[in-house]
Amino acid sequence: MSYQRGGQWTGETMATTSTHSKHFLVASDFDQTLSFNDSGLVLSELIGAGQFQDKVDGLARSNLVQQGGELAYLIRHDPEFRGVRREHLIETGRRVRLRNNIPALVEFLERGVDGYRFSFFVISAAPREVIESALAGIVPPDRIFGTELDYDAISGEVRSIVRVPAGYGKVAVVEELESAFDVNPARVIYIGDGSSDVHVMLHVNNRGGFTIAVSENRQLARIARSTVLSDDAFSVTVPILEQILGWESAPIRSLFESNGLMLQEWEKARTDRLIVVRESSGAISDIA
Ligand SMILES: [Mg+2]
Repeated sequence: MSYQRGGQWTGETMATTSTHSKHFLVASDFDQTLSFNDSGLVLSELIGAGQFQDKVDGLARSNLVQQGGELAYLIRHDPEFRGVRREHLIETGRRVRLRNNIPALVEFLERGVDGYRFSFFVISAAPREVIESALAGIVPPDRIFGTELDYDAISGEVRSIVRVPAGYGKVAVVEELESAFDVNPARVIYIGDGSSDVHVMLHVNNRGGFTIAVSENRQLARIARSTVLSDDAFSVTVPILEQILGWESAPIRSLFESNGLMLQEWEKARTDRLIVVRESSGAISDIA
């Protein structure tokens, strides 16, 4: 596991202790955040549709749909995806390879720690059926916000797209959850890996919340308050405990052990990527 600190966030850590527990919303993306592979790719392999990535890239270039919403568009409009039925989505969920120890993460968050409680949600552009099937028995359906499709009652064909929580669509879900649970925006934690998470991370940051990137996506790493790279989903507890709750590394290691896990490698790094040139060369210097 490697872990980078953003070092800019000064929110809840410094807050005074209260007798009432602080309630945080923890929202996580699904594809490549809780899983290893993109569920769209798994679905296209299942139904034998070709050039999935090329189609997604083409859609992304055109900016026709919110980033992350490409699969929903393909299901509705691409001839190769016309045969997709609810059963295919459920089977796709079964085939998605999940990151390790998601149950431990969910249980830990639901249990909470002294003075803090957390409500965990999944907000993803993947079809709801895929996420529900992949996380069956781990995350209850009422905690899952995925793309909602409307099916024809007779043919089972996808008739319309009701809602796509991709790009700015994720902001809308976060705002709904804040008001439904009466949670201050500063107590929102968002976890994601890709370009579909940019809008929501900027939004959460702007309102004093906390953001965690779980990939080396450079665009996201610039935005996220913290980056944690690990195959293990439980690892996102590290920045939460360290930066929000102010825990030291020893109790964090103990927590992993009490969950039957061992922190074998914990490499802390703050990466500054710099390209420096002489001003007279006319090149633009880039600080990443
Ligand atoms: Mg993702």
